[in-house]
Amino acid sequence: MPDAPRLELKPDCERCCGLCCVAPAFARSSDFAINKPAGKPCLKLTTDFRCSIHERLRPEGFPGCIAYDCFGAGQKVTQLTFGGETWRSSPGIAGQMFDVFGVMQQLHSMLRYLAEALEMEPAGTLSAELQGRFDEIRALSEGTAEELMALDLRALRHGTDDLLLRFSELVRR
Ligand code: SF4
Ligand code: SF4
Repeated sequence: MPDAPRLELKPDCERCCGLCCVAPAFARSSDFAINKPAGKPCLKLTTDFRCSIHERLRPEGFPGCIAYDCFGAGQKVTQLTFGGETWRSSPGIAGQMFDVFGVMQQLHSMLRYLAEALEMEPAGTLSAELQGRFDEIRALSEGTAEELMALDLRALRHGTDDLLLRFSELVRR
């Protein structure tokens, strides 16, 4: 996976402020034992952004938390976009931070799939295109909060999906 260690396409919860435990809404289901509105911290989140039931997620009724992967979006929003600030220490930025997290999740999911495609050999003639797309989205993900919110995610997703589909067809051939 190109540049994966530097890009951190895996979650690093120690460097995050529990964004996935606050930003999204949860509906009580087989994955989450409680209802939670968007933007409100999960009742199981501690003041230092840890999960108080981390070792017991499944028996407590939260298997969705085990399966979830932010692809490294959480720590990037916390450390890079917002320079280490948190929604708890700076409540005034909370809403923007949660919105940016939603954008970053999508960018990092695209980066992850592109990186996996690049890792597979025969990318052939599509290698340069995949690398170019990867570099473009990486650069976009490093923008300011305002720049991130202004992105046309639908167009980015459409272009990336099209490229990955062509890559998939090439691999199958
Ligand atoms: S958003 Fe990602 S890095 Fe942050 S706590 Fe959730 S899984 Fe961990
Ligand atoms: S149960 Fe734990 S991991 Fe799941 S949302 Fe709540 S605090 Fe986060």
